[in-house]
Amino acid sequence: MGLKFRSGDIKIVFGFLGSLLILSLFLFHLLRPLELLSYDFFQKIKPEQQSHPQIVLIEVAEDGIKAFGRWPWARKYHAAIVSILNQLEVKQVVYDILFTESSPPEEDNLFEIALKQNPIVYLPYAFEAFEENGVIRYATQYQPVKQFRDWLKGMGHINIESGDDGVIRQFSLIIEKRGQLYPSISFQACLDQWGVLFEDLIIKKGKWIEVPMEERGNIIIPIDNRYRIWINWVGRWKNTFKHYSFLEIIQAFKQKQMGEEPMIDLNELKGKVAIIGLTALGLSDIKIIPLQPVYPGVGVHANIIQNLLTQKFIYPVSQAWNAVIILVLSLFASMAIFRKKTGTSIVLVLSTIVLYLLGSFVLLVFYGVWIAILSPVLAVLLNFISATLYSEIHLAVEKKRLEKLATRDGLTGLFNRRHFELFLDAEFKKQKSKPDKIFSVVMTDIDHFKGFNDTYGHQTGDLVLREVAKTFRLSVRELDIVGRYGGEEFIVLLPGTGIDEAMIIAERMRKNTELHKIKDGNTSHTVMISAGVACIAGDASTAELIKRADDALYVAKETGRNKVLAAKEPQGSVGEEGIEDNK
Ligand code: GH3
Ligand code: MG
Ligand code: MG
Repeated sequence: MGLKFRSGDIKIVFGFLGSLLILSLFLFHLLRPLELLSYDFFQKIKPEQQSHPQIVLIEVAEDGIKAFGRWPWARKYHAAIVSILNQLEVKQVVYDILFTESSPPEEDNLFEIALKQNPIVYLPYAFEAFEENGVIRYATQYQPVKQFRDWLKGMGHINIESGDDGVIRQFSLIIEKRGQLYPSISFQACLDQWGVLFEDLIIKKGKWIEVPMEERGNIIIPIDNRYRIWINWVGRWKNTFKHYSFLEIIQAFKQKQMGEEPMIDLNELKGKVAIIGLTALGLSDIKIIPLQPVYPGVGVHANIIQNLLTQKFIYPVSQAWNAVIILVLSLFASMAIFRKKTGTSIVLVLSTIVLYLLGSFVLLVFYGVWIAILSPVLAVLLNFISATLYSEIHLAVEKKRLEKLATRDGLTGLFNRRHFELFLDAEFKKQKSKPDKIFSVVMTDIDHFKGFNDTYGHQTGDLVLREVAKTFRLSVRELDIVGRYGGEEFIVLLPGTGIDEAMIIAERMRKNTELHKIKDGNTSHTVMISAGVACIAGDASTAELIKRADDALYVAKETGRNKVLAAKEPQGSVGEEGIEDNK
């Protein structure tokens, strides 16, 4: 035989079945929550990105509320900040605040005048979103009031949508409503920075958005079938982007006008993209992001702008490729297990897992490539566990089988002579040290078995042996030990049993055998046995005890068979007494 197949190799098959189970769970999206959990974790522990120097946040914070009163503020304050930012040569002002309702005309007119100076302001609109059969649909669009719309640099949506678990991970760069496409305010601001018209974008829904750039090569933005990107989080709120408060900008500007030293360096704002949003307690829309459970919504737009400006996107690997990864890693696991010691396998499996986790982390953090993280690890683990479990069970079963092979008689399932003698020796030793621990043995032999074999054949003879063994087992007590002594000779050890009780048990064996109809096809057979019973009584050895039982058996045979006789006491002091069968 060329191919040598070891029984242990089957465990590889079991291991691979474990991997396939994980693969199918993965393909049915059942491991999605785990994948998101590990993705969030990687986002959390990755080193924070350098904030884009152009992005600044202007917060409507507590200090502003204290100074200007409760929200919403009169539009004159917005007029003020817009004209200040204009004078500071801020490049773009992106509002994360809706201006959907008119206020008193004198207020609105002030804001309109500020907008008119120089179009740098982006005002948002928002869609009412609702879920219908698991699909997000968009209804009413809340637009800025008409008076402001004409003087804007641009508009865009600010809809932020969380996953089923409430965590923000993706963002729609474009919202599609009745075939019409609406860019997000952040996307629109970036397009203007790049000098690209929305109409010129090449959009492949579910794949990418291509931004045609004349000089530095086209920008490819990976999107899903709802124009969503995965947000590549820049860092924690406190550590990222330059933060200003709405109030401090106004105050610093006033100080500057009055010739004082301003509290902050306003020149820093030149050329920046300023995102204005609410962060005051109770006013801001607090989001859960993978990095933090509390994150102001305005920060999400800053992250989107940074992702777009730096082109550091997340590229999720397709389901099919992830399935391939799971399969390849499962093969690795199988190799780690194949014909190796458990210790070696554990080391190999664990290093495979650690290397894979490191690899997937590096891919995500440095290249933005997101491959499945936990599913392949689970596939490796379950591969190892199933294989190990199988081989452990296999070993245990094999051990049991060998044990049985060594101790039991193959035909009857009774203890073999060698093993029976171990029990007998143990009982004999026990009795030697504690003389009151008496025991008896019953030696039996089937009557005229040879004739039976000759008449019906060896097969039937074997059947009879099995049936007699069964009858014996059922006739003795739980603690008694039945063994096959020779061909058709059986021996029973009766611990803690004197001669009288032993005679009763032996007689029961004889009677039950005689009464038992052995079915053999259409016929049935009746067999009888003879037995000799000996109780330990100062015998020098087990052999001597067995000899006495054997002698009694011989007498039983000689005196007519189908009977049980008690053995003579040692030294031949007492005569044998028998229980005759009274039929
Ligand atoms: P007796 O009443 O004097 O015991 O007569 P007997 O015919 O039973 O004589 P004996 O005990 O000498 O017979 C032993 C026979 O048992 C011989 C052998 O053919 C048969 N034998 C021994 N082992 C097996 C076995 O495993 N299977 C079968 N079918 N027969 C066996
Ligand atoms: Mg015999
Ligand atoms: Mg016999």
